[in-house]
Amino acid sequence: MENHVGKKRVVIIGGGVAGSLVAKSLQFTTHVTLIDSKEYFEITWASLRSRVEPSFAERSVINHQDYLTHGNIITSSAVDITETEVITEDGHKIGFDYLVIATGHADEVPKNRTERLNQFKEDNERIKSARSILIVGGGPTGVELAAEIAVDFPNKKVTIVHKGPRLLDFVGTKAADKTLKWLESKNVEVKLEQTIDVNELACEHKTYRTSNGETVEADCYFQCLGKPLASAWLEETMLKYDLDDEGRIKVDEKLRVTGRRNIFAIGDITDVPEIKQGFAAQQHAEVVVKNLKVMIDGGRDCSQCRMENYKPQMPMAIVSLGRRDAVAQLPLLTVIGRVPGFIKSGDLFVGRTRRQMGLDPRIKHD
Ligand SMILES: Cc1cc2nc3c(=O)[nH]c(=O)nc-3n(C[C@H](O)[C@H](O)[C@H](O)COP(=O)(O)OP(=O)(O)OC[C@H]3O[C@@H](n4cnc5c(N)ncnc54)[C@H](O)[C@@H]3O)c2cc1C
Repeated sequence: MENHVGKKRVVIIGGGVAGSLVAKSLQFTTHVTLIDSKEYFEITWASLRSRVEPSFAERSVINHQDYLTHGNIITSSAVDITETEVITEDGHKIGFDYLVIATGHADEVPKNRTERLNQFKEDNERIKSARSILIVGGGPTGVELAAEIAVDFPNKKVTIVHKGPRLLDFVGTKAADKTLKWLESKNVEVKLEQTIDVNELACEHKTYRTSNGETVEADCYFQCLGKPLASAWLEETMLKYDLDDEGRIKVDEKLRVTGRRNIFAIGDITDVPEIKQGFAAQQHAEVVVKNLKVMIDGGRDCSQCRMENYKPQMPMAIVSLGRRDAVAQLPLLTVIGRVPGFIKSGDLFVGRTRRQMGLDPRIKHD
């Protein structure tokens, strides 16, 4: 039994990229409780590779208990917050001295790791047995999935239907144009400024009509549309006035919820003005870990504590294009091909992320 006497209670809501890193980093110095709707942490950017190679997910879907050996794990959704405790859907009331909110985006994934791994296997079977595949959405998820399929299964006919005038709306036009050319060189068909009624999607249909009246033949489809923020639950809590119009939590430069002394928010859920990406979420986590340590060491009166300010990231991004290529938007340069691919596309930073979580980069779980 862990002895927590005298340790400050840090409660983290959300065991994604940001929250799990905070939990892992503070587990030996504070009394950590991680509340997550599911039992595992997932390296999200590996999820497209896992659809063409399901065993890839063995390293990227990680049970919380594997890295959080000295903390409490509660598998339930947070539904309310008071000044002193968090209330979960299954009725837990967890007291805190410090709270970190990291609920990111809402995603309907299984609670259990084995079920998540099975989902990847099922998706892989669908890809393998299809001759033609429709991808709805040409953001980073749709583009990366199309590229994974085009590289691993070059004989499949892949079509992307995207609402916007260009792919990858979150980066500049140069990156989007280069990506379009790359996909077309791999025989991926891209239909821009068109939509497909998602209510009409069903694998038995095989024929889909776009908003322009064009027809797409496909044996199976994947919906790769943006996911909503997981902040709706906060609208009924004492933090309801701390959300902006998009539902993001307003934070100060120390990543504290504006006007709050002991409540932090990190990752995609915040209103930090930058592209919402995993590497930014990891940076948020690192800043908050430092700030929490400073506050806890500073004792009750921490007005003189030297806490760190978070500086928003430059608008950089790397989108992988299969196993070897990628497109990178850097501060002064946009490049496509093997060089950015060498940085990201082989292992998709899975080994590095596992190492950051204190885990063997290669080991596979049973
Ligand atoms: C397919 C895909 C590919 C991506 N590729 C890249 C990439 O290549 N590079 C990059 O930098 N970024 C990438 N991203 C973005 C990156 O994944 C996000 O920026 C990052 O996950 C944000 O981390 P987060 O911790 O804020 O939120 P998330 O990782 O979304 O985690 C949120 C966590 O909160 C939990 N949760 C939600 N609501 C509740 C609740 N009420 N109570 C308890 N728990 C709750 C969820 O279960 C989840 O575990 C990608 C995202 C996706 C989906």
